[in-house]
Amino acid sequence: MTAIIEINHLKKNFGENEVLKDISTTVNKGQVLSIIGASGSGKSTFLRCINLLEKPTGGQILYKGENVLEKGYSLPKYRTHLGMVFQSFNLFANMDVLENCMTGQTTVLNRKPEEAKKIALENLKNVGMEQFVSAKPAQLSGGQMQRVAIARALSMNPDVLLFDEPTSALDPEMIGEVLKTIQDLAETGLTMVIVTHEMSFAKDVSDRVIFMDQGVIAEQGTPEEIFDHPKEVRTREFLHRIR
Ligand code: ADP
Ligand code: MG
Repeated sequence: MTAIIEINHLKKNFGENEVLKDISTTVNKGQVLSIIGASGSGKSTFLRCINLLEKPTGGQILYKGENVLEKGYSLPKYRTHLGMVFQSFNLFANMDVLENCMTGQTTVLNRKPEEAKKIALENLKNVGMEQFVSAKPAQLSGGQMQRVAIARALSMNPDVLLFDEPTSALDPEMIGEVLKTIQDLAETGLTMVIVTHEMSFAKDVSDRVIFMDQGVIAEQGTPEEIFDHPKEVRTREFLHRIR
């Protein structure tokens, strides 16, 4: 197994508040890593540290073996290797669906508009949104917006796609279409880290699961280990509470 991202003793404080305390894990190429845990346990902060939307207070993040926190490492370049899908979609409201999927490609990756358009259309097709290219985000349902957000992230050809509760803002009837889209992506071999409250989805889609509790990884293992045979009392209590 090849490690794409290796995290060693990651720490993050907000003032006095130690939100991440000594987190270590590896994201392997082609694998799906899910992160579960109660609200406030530090899941979003962890994802935001991985793509350096937050600056870690301590520890190391190695991308393909290189420490991205070292002086001189190009952060803009690092960020282009990672895609992010947010709970609240974060589409550009003034742009149509196609423009949403092209703008990062032309501005950040310097792709020509024709090439960016071709790639955007391929990815919109993959998420079943090709017939909505001219729609504005406000004309779409939540599930459709999230599928566009996924196509937008894919259009940047990330090495790793990070999802922060991609279905938490959706009406229940739209959750399935987004989970299905993510599941299809998993089957293409894309490397993904997914924070989710959808336990049966996490169990099906993941190669590994991390259970976070109060800023630490309380337990990590295969879906079977975490969901069927959790070792830690905290994991059992959490799963019991939400089931
Ligand atoms: P989760 O995603 O698991 O719900 P978060 O990572 O969002 O947890 O939050 C973990 C803790 O970090 C919470 O106590 C939250 O209040 C705190 N926190 C998150 N972001 C910030 C921030 N930008 N400034 C201060 N505190 C923050
Ligand atoms: Mg969160």
